[in-house]
Amino acid sequence: MESARMCAVGSGAVDIPRLPAGDSAASVGPWRFSASRSRILASACSHPDQHCQPTDDYDSLCQLCRYYKILQFPHMPDMVFPDNILSLEYSKGGRIQFTALDAMKCIDITRLPIQVACAEEWQESRSGTDQKIKPFDWTFITDYKGTLIDGLELTSTLEKINMELLKKREKILFYEDISLYEDELHDHGVASCSVKIRVMPSCWFVLLRYFLRVDDVLSQINDTRMFYELDSPHILVEHTSRNGDLASLKLPPHVVTDPNELAQRLPITSQSLNKIVLPTSR
Ligand SMILES: [Zn+2]
Repeated sequence: MESARMCAVGSGAVDIPRLPAGDSAASVGPWRFSASRSRILASACSHPDQHCQPTDDYDSLCQLCRYYKILQFPHMPDMVFPDNILSLEYSKGGRIQFTALDAMKCIDITRLPIQVACAEEWQESRSGTDQKIKPFDWTFITDYKGTLIDGLELTSTLEKINMELLKKREKILFYEDISLYEDELHDHGVASCSVKIRVMPSCWFVLLRYFLRVDDVLSQINDTRMFYELDSPHILVEHTSRNGDLASLKLPPHVVTDPNELAQRLPITSQSLNKIVLPTSR
């Protein structure tokens, strides 16, 4: 099985509702949608000796040690949801999936960290007693755009998503809002990555968002929107990255704390239009 993670540039927002754990699924037209929501990644090694042995055999490691080995992060975000998955499967082949691990693989941990007053304090709080953490991207900025599986791939297009179609009053057949990871930046803001889906009889819409707010300093929102209209030969995919200096924007508090409001006020720093052409036969 071939899979391709799509990475790019960006960041996003918070106050994600904590929906109960569980699985849900629905079939609508040629699509099968499924979602899982589960526990947070443990913060300590679960090996009986509390220390997994270094090994190349990923399966023998506990989940936390496996994540550290794969990602090589000095520290994980406060909350990682390793079993939260949103999956969209096409009847003629191909699947799109959203997972925390793939989102975190798109974090460039060696990127120079944002230099703000709280950065040092944040890193010290996590460095433990005898270990010094090298500077790293403590805001966990990801440009993840979803994982394409079984031959699906992005190609460029000039076609934009018609947002007016989403304003039509239609019954919602399937809805999920799934958190992939989140960090409170040592009480200096929030960094979160989450994905939402809304499925109607005539179309579906996905919003994958990385949201960053460093209080009184800056905000970044990286959005990937996917849109499919029934009987269309493709899915439209739009990536937008927004970035703004909160000190100079002087926005009211209710805007700063609401990612949707904030997204309207932040300047766009990059944007791209793509499509995923769907297979016509198995
Ligand atoms: Zn372990």
